[in-house]
Amino acid sequence: MVRLVIASNIAGKDPLLQKRPEPLFYALPDHVPLRASLVVRTEFSPEDLDETIKLFQDLIRIDTTNPPGNEGKAAEYLKMHFDSNGIDCEVLGEPGRENVIAKIRGQREKPRLLFESHTDVVPAAGVGTWTHPPFSAEIEDQWIYGRGAWDDKFDVAVQAMSLILLKRRNVKLNGTLLYAAVADEEGSGSGAAWLTRKMPEKVTAEYVVGEGGAPPIQLGKQKVYWITTGEKGLAWFKLTAKGALSLNHIRCLF
Ligand SMILES: [Zn+2]
Repeated sequence: MVRLVIASNIAGKDPLLQKRPEPLFYALPDHVPLRASLVVRTEFSPEDLDETIKLFQDLIRIDTTNPPGNEGKAAEYLKMHFDSNGIDCEVLGEPGRENVIAKIRGQREKPRLLFESHTDVVPAAGVGTWTHPPFSAEIEDQWIYGRGAWDDKFDVAVQAMSLILLKRRNVKLNGTLLYAAVADEEGSGSGAAWLTRKMPEKVTAEYVVGEGGAPPIQLGKQKVYWITTGEKGLAWFKLTAKGALSLNHIRCLF
């Protein structure tokens, strides 16, 4: 079995990601993560994986550092792939901050499942300290290195390939599968806001698979997958602590 292992840049070199994330396996029969398993459970051919890796590397090499973003470049690149596979696709949004959406119709309109991801990345701080340049997408020892490899071009690529493989294999879906790779998630969220305000009918879905959640955790004998119920909101809460107060306690709280 061929496996695809994807990671962000090297541990400790990126101040935004201090620890090496748990690898995600896209096609391992004994470890199929929720966000990759909903669509494609069939085995991948080596060619499928090569194509996925190429798409993923190309996306990392498109510099969509936010600000300014320039996500339209990534959107157009993805549209080219969807178009060449006969998948309905549109590039929509403010000039330079475009989103890309795609759709595969099922036998019924509903339910609708949305694959959601974002094409922008945060600035690559400390470029000189990276052992692999942040937009190189170099592969070493089964790991792909680059800004956005983990957040969130992994999702952009595997979700796009999921649509492409489903289309090629002519898989009959019960409902509709939607795809949206949005701009400016790392900033104000203006890409998703534009879509949901201007044309909500194109992205409204009963179910969404996005970058939220986290790698699964083991609770006793069960593997538990996280479900995100919201993002970028406020959750006010009040903490009450009892005992002697010290500076360290204050640090723990804040
Ligand atoms: Zn993200």
